[in-house]
Amino acid sequence: MKLALGLCGLAVTALIAGCGSSNVTSTADVAAAATNASPVVSEQNMKDKFIKTEAEWKKELTPEQYRVLRQRGTERAFTGQYWNHHGKGAYRCAGCGLELFSSKTKFDSGCGWPSFFAPLSSNAVATAEDNSHSMRRTEVLCPRCSGHLGHVFDDGPKPTGLRYCINSAALKFEPKK
Ligand code: FE
Repeated sequence: MKLALGLCGLAVTALIAGCGSSNVTSTADVAAAATNASPVVSEQNMKDKFIKTEAEWKKELTPEQYRVLRQRGTERAFTGQYWNHHGKGAYRCAGCGLELFSSKTKFDSGCGWPSFFAPLSSNAVATAEDNSHSMRRTEVLCPRCSGHLGHVFDDGPKPTGLRYCINSAALKFEPKK
């Protein structure tokens, strides 16, 4: 059995704090499960691709948003804006504004990052294999601007069993009207 490091792969302290997963079998399994919930980027999303130059992204995003979304960075556990946020509404991509997650699927995972057991819809997020940092993980991306959001693991609650571990810096909360 492999030890999954969660989104907290870069933060050993976070792993100690409980973000580590104990029952992930393989990246392929997680990718397959995530793909079931969020299949390949839809044709519609492909048509709507949101493309900007790195210079434009750098100008529009905060340094932390740029580091996470465009450089695949990870914010420190328990420091982001939304890990302990319980408002009702939608979580949009901080890069392009696409609606990604609903507060209805947010849960307290204890890992220090906003966690969701499902995206807003089957094609609301995209996934990709991530073998960086000597780990096998499944990356979660915005299907429209390709911004890095976080990772998905198979240690989430029912009904999906998935945990979308997302950086607060990649999200923008919109309260329910
Ligand atoms: Fe986006």
